[in-house]
Amino acid sequence: MKLLQEIIGHNNIVGLLRGAVDRQRVAHAYLFSGPAGVGKKTCAFAFTRALLCQQPRQGDACAQCRSCRQLEAGNYPDFMQLEPAGSFIKIEQVREIQKKVLLTPFQGSRQVCLIEEAESMTAEAANCFLKTLEEPSAGVVFILISARPYALLPTVASRCQQVWFQFLSVFQVSDGLIKLMDLSEEEAKLPAALSGGSLGQAVALVADGRFAERRKRVIEMAATLNGATPGEACRLAGSLTGSREEIRTWMDALLLWYRDLLVWQDSGREELIFNQDCLPLLEEQAKNYTASRIIDIMNKVEEAKNRLSSNANVRLVLEVLFMHLNKVNAFCF
Ligand SMILES: [Zn+2]
Repeated sequence: MKLLQEIIGHNNIVGLLRGAVDRQRVAHAYLFSGPAGVGKKTCAFAFTRALLCQQPRQGDACAQCRSCRQLEAGNYPDFMQLEPAGSFIKIEQVREIQKKVLLTPFQGSRQVCLIEEAESMTAEAANCFLKTLEEPSAGVVFILISARPYALLPTVASRCQQVWFQFLSVFQVSDGLIKLMDLSEEEAKLPAALSGGSLGQAVALVADGRFAERRKRVIEMAATLNGATPGEACRLAGSLTGSREEIRTWMDALLLWYRDLLVWQDSGREELIFNQDCLPLLEEQAKNYTASRIIDIMNKVEEAKNRLSSNANVRLVLEVLFMHLNKVNAFCF
């Protein structure tokens, strides 16, 4: 479990939460919302530690007192966690929590209840939970976490203090990878650039042993595609398999490659290149494109990514894209 001061990025949020603990101005309920993988849950745990610590320092947990140690060991009596049982948080689970929060805390002055994927409450569970929010018990703090807050009952959301998490910058993700995964700055550069601002996604990329190999394959594919026949382009499109999310990641890898081509053409500076291990190929390929052609390709890749998000057929999206990448506008199946 991290401390609030150890959270990567989100400085404003950390400042807000530490200030609330320090000034004893803690809201009854918080809604931590924002994209997946940016650190909402990590931050919620760190905030919980600060809230339950017996001797918080500048609004952060001390990591030494009895409460801090119990929480770390997973046996603090006044901390509750609620998460979907299957696909939903059910009314029975909410009732269970309601019973507990009516009791006075066993230890200290607060009880904290963390609700993950809060939007997955069934309608009756959400309405039941609403009653607890409307008649708050003293000392109880709810922290709701949601990557899809729009799916939450609006009357529940409106009774929580909204805390909106943004995507992290490439530098923040890179910093996180260096600290969490013990990577060098050089090693962290690529997964950070491909993470889309999500440290969780970057960690998953690094943990995926096939990442480096597949990225190289995508780059080689881009090189082969330049001037390929329509038949070859279709064959290559068919060879790129994986989940929709994986394909989107490979498209990001493709974007990063073309970005590198553009930067190389413009500056010739190695230190600005992400795909450091492919410099000879980059140098060779950069001669084959004009800057406007690269920008056009990048726009097409972005378009394809958007089409994937709107549930278009993956194979078809790839074929159309690859038809553009090989400079041919014909279509084939
Ligand atoms: Zn403590």
